[in-house]
Order: sequence, then structure tokens, then C-alpha cells
Amino acid sequence: MHVTPPGPRIAVVGGGIGGLAAAAFLRRAGLTATVYEQASALTEVGAGLVLAPNAVRLLRRLGVMDHLAPHAVPLDWAWEFRRWDDGDVLSVERLTGVCEELYGERTYTVHRADLLDALKSVVPKEWIRLGARCTGVDTDGAVDGARLHFADGTQVDADVVVGADGVHSVVRGLVADAEPAQYSGLCAFRAIVPAEAAPEFALRRAQTLWLGPGRHFVHYPIGGGRAVNIFAAAPAGDYTRESWSATTTTAEFAAEFAGWDPRVTELIATGGVPGRWALLDRTPLPRWSHGSVTLLGDAAHPMFPFFAQGAAQSLEDAAVLARALAADPDGPARALARYEAVRIARTARLQEVSRSRRDANHLPDGPGQRARDASLAAADPLVGSGWIYGYDADEIPLP
Ligand code: FAD
Repeated sequence: MHVTPPGPRIAVVGGGIGGLAAAAFLRRAGLTATVYEQASALTEVGAGLVLAPNAVRLLRRLGVMDHLAPHAVPLDWAWEFRRWDDGDVLSVERLTGVCEELYGERTYTVHRADLLDALKSVVPKEWIRLGARCTGVDTDGAVDGARLHFADGTQVDADVVVGADGVHSVVRGLVADAEPAQYSGLCAFRAIVPAEAAPEFALRRAQTLWLGPGRHFVHYPIGGGRAVNIFAAAPAGDYTRESWSATTTTAEFAAEFAGWDPRVTELIATGGVPGRWALLDRTPLPRWSHGSVTLLGDAAHPMFPFFAQGAAQSLEDAAVLARALAADPDGPARALARYEAVRIARTARLQEVSRSRRDANHLPDGPGQRARDASLAAADPLVGSGWIYGYDADEIPLP
């Protein structure tokens, strides 16, 4: 006998970090959901992520940290800023002990695929539909809620639709008139270096950022220390592809950092095929929801990765969304309005501060760069960013 689960029918479009987190938090809240993912398998590209305390405390409560711990690297040092040409340390912050004392959690680095696997482990398998590419959502045909349309011609009615379908969101078209993405002039390179090939220097449990004219270069260990993640921002030229699967050559990546400290150029040389991603600039959306349809994660608030907070914000969205829906299961539109009211100002602020790093990280040598370096040396990012790391999405009151 088929038993209809209690609560609203919730459809989550997208099975990335945000979509799976939404399912996991909805489950914790006693609700059920179906996740529609276009890919035929749940996978993530080869790239690392920094998980700050605001993300870790949520993952721990979901039981995800138990799965993730063997693959995560607890950082001892972060924001180790260095000069591009000689590696002079401009500033560095010790995290061990301090981070737990301030925020109750450490900061970790992980491989995105490990995070996705760990999230998957707390979502019932039968909730996930693979190979389901959503082509549109409308609120006209369905009696209540919304109707989802899929590439294979099928349709599904739901009481609540959550668009967790990333930067190129299809669902976003229904809820907001997003301004077109702007060319930022920057692109990101990323690569993974196996620990055996990586210099000892890059295996330290540190997040290191090299700042130079027009470019910056970041590395930290991931995969429980079995690899090093590289991320770099450099001029994009006429490159405009915004895709996790786009690649380039090591030679092209290396050419961008010619003349930099040999520790940087050696690390680039040992990496596998680099990915390349055009960093497009998007203005915060004025609204995320339309009736019983809402957005979450990059679909709602894509941001430059310079604060390493995109995935963390998806997790926070997911926790607040589940609380709002559980508190008012018979009024999805009301619940979504409360969710949006809690989340939109915070994520817009993070979009803005992430954007502000774009120029500061890339100053040419000169008075501006010297002033920046002096302020980096005087700053305490762990305390100064308390509004980011101290936020507990489970405790923020719903309006
Ligand atoms: P995505 O991860 O893009 O997932 C969207 C999912 O939806 C995908 O699985 C996709 O296949 C699916 N989908 C898309 N369209 C459809 C459709 N029509 N139908 C069905 N399924 C669909 N964040 C951090 O917190 N820390 C970091 O250190 C960090 N570093 C970053 C470095 C780089 C270079 C970049 C680009 C981002 C970084 N971020 C970081 C940001 C982070 O990666 C994103 O914010 C996060 O992945 C967003 O997750 P999401 O689930 O919203 O979107």
C-alpha cells in the first residue's frame, strides 16, 4: 500500500552541496523531499573548499562530520598572506585552539567530492532522482504550489519548489528578474596536486594566499592531507566560460604566474590538468521567492570565491529553510517569505564583501599595495569576521 508522507510535497531542483544539504535539513526537521539532479550520478569536480565554523557546526549536527573527518584537514594556520615575488609573510593567523575557543569549531579544508559524499550519506537514497533535468517551473497549471517540467517531457506537481540549481539556475527565471552577469575581467584556475608530488611546504595545515599585481594564488591541503588544492585568480582576457568542467593547460596556467616565487611556479608544474572558470559578477537579487517557489545557494546568491563562503551560505540557507517550513507546513508561501527575510541581507553582504576583495588582492606594487599590506598585518580576520563565523543558522530567530 502506498502511504503519502506527511507534510508538503517539496521538490528540490539540483543535487549539489546546497540541494543535498536542503534535503538533509528537511529530513532532520521531520519533512520529506525529492531532489531532482540533471546529472546521471552525484559527483563533484576536483576542487577544494574551506569549511569555516559557521558551516562546520551545521554539518556536525547533521552527522556529516563523522563521515567527513577522515577526509578533512583541520587548519592550524589561515590567511597566511605572502608577497608574490619573494614569499615574504605579510600576515598569518593561528587557528588551533583559538578558532574553537571563539566559535566552538575548527576550520577545515575538504575536497568537494568528499563533502558531497558525506552529505549524500544523510539523505535517503529514494529521495534522489538522477538524470532529471528541470527545464522550467510554472505556477499556473498546478492546483496549489507549482509544476516542474523536465527534459524527458515529464511533469511533477509540488507544494514547494526549491531552486538549488546553481549559477545558471532555471528556477531563478520564475522568481526574479536577475540583472545580466557582468564580465569581471578575472578568471579562476584550479588544480589538484597529489601529496607525493607536492613540495613539503604546501602540505602544511595552512591556507596560504600569495598576493601579486593583477593576480593571487591560494593553496591548502585537502583529502586528509593526500593532496593539495590550488586556486588562483588572474586576468581573464577574452575568456568567458563559467563552467566547472572547462579546462586549460598547465603551460597557460604557469604563464600567468611567470616570475613569481619558485614555490608557486613549482606547485603549478606538479598539478594535473587545470580547470578554468570565468568569474562573472552578479548583483544581489532583490527577491528569491515567488509564492511557493524559492531559491537556495548559488542560484540565489552567486559570489566571488574570495571569502570562501559560497558553500557555507548554501548550508545556512538549507538549515533556515527547513526550520521555516517545519514551523508552518501548511503555509509554504509564508514559510518561504520568512526564510528569505532571514537570509537575503546576510548573503547580499557576503556577495558585496567578496566582490570588494577583487581589487584589494591584486594591487600593483606601490603605495596602495604597501597600505594594504600594513592593514593586513594589523588585522585579525578571525575576530574581524565574527559576523560570518559566529552565525548559527539554527539559532537565528525567524521573523
Ligand atoms: P552547485 O554546486 O552549482 O550545484 C548545482 C546542482 O544543480 C548541480 O549538481 C547541477 O548539476 C544541478 N543542476 C543545475 N541545473 C539543473 C537543472 N536544470 N535541473 C536539475 N539539476 C540541475 N565555497 C565555500 O564555502 N568555500 C570555498 O572555499 C569555495 N571555493 C570556491 C572556489 C571556486 C573556484 C568557486 C567557483 C566556488 C567556490 N565556492 C566556495 C563556492 C561554492 O562552490 C558554491 O557556492 C557551492 O558549490 C554552491 O552550491 P550549490 O548547490 O548552490 O550549486
